[in-house]
Amino acid sequence: MTLKLNIIQPKIGLEKEKSQMSNGQWNVLEKQGYRKIGNHSAVKVCEWTKKMLRGHGGCYKYVFYGIRSHQCLQMTTSMFCASRCKFCWRGLKAPVNKEWYGPIDSPEHIINHSIDAQIKLLQGFKGNSELNKKRIKEMGNIRHVALSLTGEPITYPLINEIIKAFHKRKISTFLVTNAQYPEQIKKIDKVTQLYLSIDAPNKKLMKKIDRPLFKDFWQRTLDCLDLLKTRDYRTCIRLTLIKDENMTDLKGYADLIHRGDPNFIELKSYMWVGESQRNYKPSNMPFMDDVRNFSKELLEYMPEYELMREHIPSRVVLLIKKSLKKKSWINFPKFFQLIEQNKEFTAEDYCSKVIMGN
Ligand code: SF4
Repeated sequence: MTLKLNIIQPKIGLEKEKSQMSNGQWNVLEKQGYRKIGNHSAVKVCEWTKKMLRGHGGCYKYVFYGIRSHQCLQMTTSMFCASRCKFCWRGLKAPVNKEWYGPIDSPEHIINHSIDAQIKLLQGFKGNSELNKKRIKEMGNIRHVALSLTGEPITYPLINEIIKAFHKRKISTFLVTNAQYPEQIKKIDKVTQLYLSIDAPNKKLMKKIDRPLFKDFWQRTLDCLDLLKTRDYRTCIRLTLIKDENMTDLKGYADLIHRGDPNFIELKSYMWVGESQRNYKPSNMPFMDDVRNFSKELLEYMPEYELMREHIPSRVVLLIKKSLKKKSWINFPKFFQLIEQNKEFTAEDYCSKVIMGN
């Protein structure tokens, strides 16, 4: 399929010609399995997509929510972000900025080329007769997008438009942000599940761990949490737990969580990978037991939540609001039906019990 590049010139007029990344930076990422899409987006096949195709099980979002990992597109719509998190694998060479810069590609261009790139990257699986034929057949039919690969996808000026375009194609949307862009969250009409990454329980630790660019980073985080509370669709707060660093101040975490009032909380172990190895040691990775114990201690401050499930390979625990009655999976057909009807709806309307064999 030949697709035309469709660029919308930026209206904001910021450094029109400046690209988000240099050719050298793109080359490094290409060698790591990334594919550049247009001017500011990228795709990389998730390891769990490959594992599911090999019959080695799905990712934790499959177990928790029903995301079919072999039909999931992992991508970003922006290569820069506004923090230099110590636990991030990208390191100090990754682009950082506070505001959008460079051209703005159209949602349709990004979606078409991203799907195309993912299918090309997965071609090698087709020739392997050992693999599950049904899944191989299904892998080209993308059903989910995880906007979280790298950078801050939410900074893309047309973030709401691209989310809508994904929904039109019956592709569910998971959007992850590190809570620095409240004005972008306001733009989003509906998303299948919105994540805020909260990397520390208080301002002092957040400054130390995230090394944010914005001077008012804490207020931005609080504003994002306040907005999260007003969203009717499914919301989640993710904590990345780093031993001897941020596994402290349970009350601080509980206060932030209460402020954002999410449907779900994911507590996930930091992984000692990439450039983060310069900042931490393997011993900073909590074991599954550490994550479990920390989750239990946190629950003591938040009686309205309960333990839902865990995924040992990813060292992650899911907590759920008791009011959701353990319905952590997503009823995708219902979600798209609600979107098509264009009426107001709530998270409860498309939450479901585990549907095995999905
Ligand atoms: S949801 Fe995340 S972890 Fe799961 S397959 Fe998609 S990108 Fe990978």
